[in-house]
Amino acid sequence: MKIKFLGGCNEIGRSAILIDDKVVMDYGIRPSEPPEVPLDGPFPKSVIVSHAHLDHSGMVPSLMPANKKRVPEVYLTPVTRDLAQLLSRDTIKVGKEQGFCFFDEDNIRRMDRHTHPVNYGERIILDGSDYDAGYEVRLFNAGHIPGSSSVYLRKESEDISLFYTGDIKLGETRLINSAQPAEFPRSDILMIESTYYGREHMDRREQEREFVDSIRETVNSGGKAIIPCFAVGRTQEIVMILHSYGITPYVDGMGLSVFSLFKHHPEFLKDAKALNEAFSDAIFVNSRKRKKVLAEPSVIVTTAGMLNGGPVLYYLKKVHEDRKSKILLTGYQIEGTNGRRLLEQGCVETNGEVVKVNAKVEQYDFSAHAGDSELKELVSRFCNSGTEIVFPVHGENTVEFASWTREEFGCEAISPKNGEEFIIK
Ligand SMILES: [Zn+2]
Repeated sequence: MKIKFLGGCNEIGRSAILIDDKVVMDYGIRPSEPPEVPLDGPFPKSVIVSHAHLDHSGMVPSLMPANKKRVPEVYLTPVTRDLAQLLSRDTIKVGKEQGFCFFDEDNIRRMDRHTHPVNYGERIILDGSDYDAGYEVRLFNAGHIPGSSSVYLRKESEDISLFYTGDIKLGETRLINSAQPAEFPRSDILMIESTYYGREHMDRREQEREFVDSIRETVNSGGKAIIPCFAVGRTQEIVMILHSYGITPYVDGMGLSVFSLFKHHPEFLKDAKALNEAFSDAIFVNSRKRKKVLAEPSVIVTTAGMLNGGPVLYYLKKVHEDRKSKILLTGYQIEGTNGRRLLEQGCVETNGEVVKVNAKVEQYDFSAHAGDSELKELVSRFCNSGTEIVFPVHGENTVEFASWTREEFGCEAISPKNGEEFIIK
């Protein structure tokens, strides 16, 4: 089996792993300015998408050009399919504003025609007739966002299997059920995300209480609490948390469309009724009503989660001088994003203009990723059941993660570089 890493190595963003020049697992975009895309590689015949976040799915439409006689077939869960459509259309819109273009509406429509929804546990064989041999593929709940999957892939002719965690979470959240590693099949190769390697999460309930206390304090002192969130997963999780503490937020941005989409897939949610109740209590804002929202102390949940575009920039520009207001970041801010700049330099950049932020900035950890001990537990589970090769990917500390794995289990553990290729026998 030949494995080539086209992106997502020693970095978070543009995940893409090519197997035997035929099957690509994820094909993402790195949401920096300008965005980065996977390295060039042979045109795949099949695409497996672990989940809908843009750093895993954002470039799939670019594999659907009109001048190709044959485009790849795409395999993903039904909710990931719907989300990928929605987010791809948003990427076109953002591209128009920021001056980039990787695909158009035609590509998205073609992607839709070549998409095959796969449910968790369902066994599919990627067309053996077109390949030297078939590939058995199964998806497992990764507990990261609704529809997110870990991918099991076995090359039948060589009987070599791999397990790619995608982005994975083992702990509980309000929105979805956590991943169940006990259900994962054994595999020869493990590719594991490393976002939180070396870092533990705080206790979730404690984090919720601190977050809510800080919001109440902000509003009570006359400020606005601005909560930047990813549209997918984080917005819905935060609205559920606020609802459970009796706080009614304004919700602005794509998180609302994503909520409407989730409603069609209740089987991918932990408690569809609780999500509906939380959203029926929230107040939705469009661009015309934004001014009004800021006329009084308020709680605003809005996109984008790392401040790279979206209505959050409107709110930031309006409150940046107000020391009573607060920006409550809800997760990790990757390098090259406005969110990281805000944390490190106290400013953000929008339309070429640098805005100094005097409002308070706080960072919370509502991460949808496994923490350090959970990642190690996963590696341990796989290595103790026969995994011989481990590739930590999707993180800034993959070299350390690989050395830890080697020392602990004596197996082959490699932190791959973008563009690197491995032949596994
Ligand atoms: Zn993700």
